[in-house]
Amino acid sequence: MYPRLLVDLNKLRSNLDAVAKITKEQGGCSLMIVTKGLCADPEMAKMVANHPAVDFMADSRVMNIKTYAEEARKNGKMTVLLRIPMHAEAADVVKYVDLSFNSELSTIRLLNEEAGKIGVKHNVLLMIDLGDLREGIFYQNEDQIFAAVEEILTMENINLYGVGVNLTCYGAIIPKNDNLSNLVAIARKIEEKFGIKLNMVSGGNSSSIYLIGKGELPEGINNLRLGESFLLGNDTAYGEKLPGTVSDTLILEAQIVELKEKPSIPIGEVGVDAFGQKPYYEDRGVIKRAIIAIGKQDTDIDSMEPLDEKIDILGGSSDHIILDVTKSDTEYKVGDVVRFVLGYGGMLKTATSPYVEKAYIK
Ligand SMILES: *Cc1c(COP(=O)(O)O)cnc(C)c1O
Repeated sequence: MYPRLLVDLNKLRSNLDAVAKITKEQGGCSLMIVTKGLCADPEMAKMVANHPAVDFMADSRVMNIKTYAEEARKNGKMTVLLRIPMHAEAADVVKYVDLSFNSELSTIRLLNEEAGKIGVKHNVLLMIDLGDLREGIFYQNEDQIFAAVEEILTMENINLYGVGVNLTCYGAIIPKNDNLSNLVAIARKIEEKFGIKLNMVSGGNSSSIYLIGKGELPEGINNLRLGESFLLGNDTAYGEKLPGTVSDTLILEAQIVELKEKPSIPIGEVGVDAFGQKPYYEDRGVIKRAIIAIGKQDTDIDSMEPLDEKIDILGGSSDHIILDVTKSDTEYKVGDVVRFVLGYGGMLKTATSPYVEKAYIK
């Protein structure tokens, strides 16, 4: 059935091999693979859980982690919750997650309580905000950082596993030697002040991996968390391809349901489209327009690229995407399937949509 997302497990595995080589062999870091971009797809998760280079399997949603926690733990990998937990999910977190990222003491107290109830010791990574301004205790507020550590160390069922930072998400701040060095400095201060050793200083996501190639990842960063670089081969700091990776790990297929020659400018007074936006039209004269049966409910139109380079995406609505196939060398017919490679947004939405079938290349 279409629309369909073709997941190439061989390409994903070889991307994993490539990022593992950079992160572990060159960078000397442990490897945390992030599954949320592909909505923790079960076949992908199985491959990751069985890959010998992976140390941690992470997602932002407990619901996703639940689906693979058993397989991950069976293979000696810790499960990790990336999004700061909700109070409402504390009981599930201590059950399915081995390490959660935290920045709020009220939440860590709840995790302590819930961990006590089921007799486990729960690991927390204290998030430090180095300026991207999403999660974490602000790095300049050292008093707050030390106060949090002091209280965490009194909690019977919590283990302070380390500190971490997230960058290039909200504020689009690029990880550099100088800002990441602030994280290492904070880690060393905590260790000195409290006489402890932190297991992990986690230096960010796919936007940090480029620093290894440049030899600029600060000494002391000993973990990276990789989603997009593994799934699509992207260095997300500067949008370059990582050596040894490919980006066509996923192919979206959609079927043509209408094919007609019509003008390229709509006729009549222009209002707003289905999403309240005022559209812009380029006059291409009379063109061959193909409608494919997939829309904004299933994908991100700005994050997909036709494999046939002579096709242009003109626009779409909830359930339709309109293509200009005039210049293509292929004589398309109704019923033909058009293929696309995806960016992060397209991957996220197609993997999440219940209307998109999945198939696997193994
Ligand atoms: C999503 C996320 C990641 C992975 O990001 P990529 O850019 O896909 O590598 C890492 N850490 C945190 C906290 C995240 O939320």
